Amino acid sequence: MGSTAVLAGAVTAPGELRAAAPAPRLRRIATEEAFMMPEMYEAMKAMPREAMANYDLRFMYRMAHAAPGDDERRRLDSLLDIEHRRLEIMDEFGVDMHVLSLTSPGVQEFEPEEAGRVARATNDRLADIIQRHPLRFAGLAAFAPQDPKSAAQEMIRAREQLGLNGFIVNSHTFDEYLDEEKFWPILEAAEGTGGAIYIHPRAPGASSAAPMRNYGMEGGFWGYGAETGLHAVRLILSGVFDRFPKLTIVLGHMGEGLPWWLPRLDDRTRAANRLGTADGQLRMLPSEYFKRNFLITNSLFRDALALRYSIDRLGPENVMWSIDYPYGPTAEAVTFMDTVDISDVERALIYHRNAERVFHIPPVSTG
Ligand code: MN
Repeated sequence: MGSTAVLAGAVTAPGELRAAAPAPRLRRIATEEAFMMPEMYEAMKAMPREAMANYDLRFMYRMAHAAPGDDERRRLDSLLDIEHRRLEIMDEFGVDMHVLSLTSPGVQEFEPEEAGRVARATNDRLADIIQRHPLRFAGLAAFAPQDPKSAAQEMIRAREQLGLNGFIVNSHTFDEYLDEEKFWPILEAAEGTGGAIYIHPRAPGASSAAPMRNYGMEGGFWGYGAETGLHAVRLILSGVFDRFPKLTIVLGHMGEGLPWWLPRLDDRTRAANRLGTADGQLRMLPSEYFKRNFLITNSLFRDALALRYSIDRLGPENVMWSIDYPYGPTAEAVTFMDTVDISDVERALIYHRNAERVFHIPPVSTG
C-alpha cells in the first residue's frame, strides 16, 4: 500500500533548481521508532506502586495509570497505535518506513518468566503487522536478558522464523551489562543471525543513579545518554568484539556522546597498553571497533555540526536517521534531514541505504 509514497512528493535539495521532471525524493526510513503492545501495557499496569522507587518504573507506572486527556495517556495511545494514526502521520510527512522497537524499558523490569512471555507475544504481533505493511514497517525483536539462554532462543526464532530485522535492548538489566560473560549467548545469537542490537537508553541503574537524582538528570537531560554511553564503552573495553567480530551494535542520540570521545579512548588505550595496566589486551583501538561494530542514529539530535562531525569521524556508512516517534516530532526530523548541508550521497546513506543494509530491508526501486 505504501509503495506509491516512495515515488510521490518530490523534494529538491536546497539550492538546487527544480527540474522540469523532479527526481523522486529519497526513501525515508526512520530507525528508532517506539511502540507498545497490549501485553507490555497489562504487565506495566499490574506492577505495584512500590515500583515508583526506580525512574523507569515511575515512568511506566505514570503511563499505565494516566487519565484520559493527560499527555501521558496521549503518548501511551500513540505507542499502542501502529496501523492507524501513526501511518497517517507518516504519510503526512512522507516517512516511508518506521523500524519499530518496543518502548523503553521494554521487558527488562519484569520477572524473567513474564519478561520472556511478553517479548515472545510482542515479537509475534510485530511480525504480523509487518506482514500486513511490508513497505511501511520493519521491526526489532524484543528479548529478555534476565534469562540469557532463553533470550538467545527467542532471538534466533525472531530472525529465522518471524523474519524480524534485528534486536532492541534498553541498556542495563537489573544493573548488569551485556559485556558480562553470562550474556554472551545473546551476543552470539545476534552475530550468528546477522541481527544488529540497538542499545536504546534507559535511566541509570541503582548503582549509578544517585548523583543524577537532582535537577531532573536521570532521564533525557543526562542520565539516558550517560548510561547508554557507559554500556557501549564497557562493550568495547571488555574485548567482546574480539570474540564476536561480526557483532553490530546501534546507538541512538548521535552515538550517546561516543563519537566525540573516541580520540580520548584511543589515547588512554595506547597508554594503558604501554604501561601494562590494561585489564586485557584489545586487538584494535576503541575507534577501530566503533567504526567496524557500531552504527549511530541521530534520534532527537537535529544539530548540523554534530552530524557533520559524526559523518567525518565514523564515515557516512555508519550513520542513520531516526525520529524517535512518538517522543520526537516527525516534521522537524524530516525537515532537518532534508535541509542539512551534507552531500547527496551522504543523505541517501543516512536516510535509507544504511538502514537497508544493517536491518535487512529490501531496497525499493524509485524508477
Ligand atoms: Mn527512543
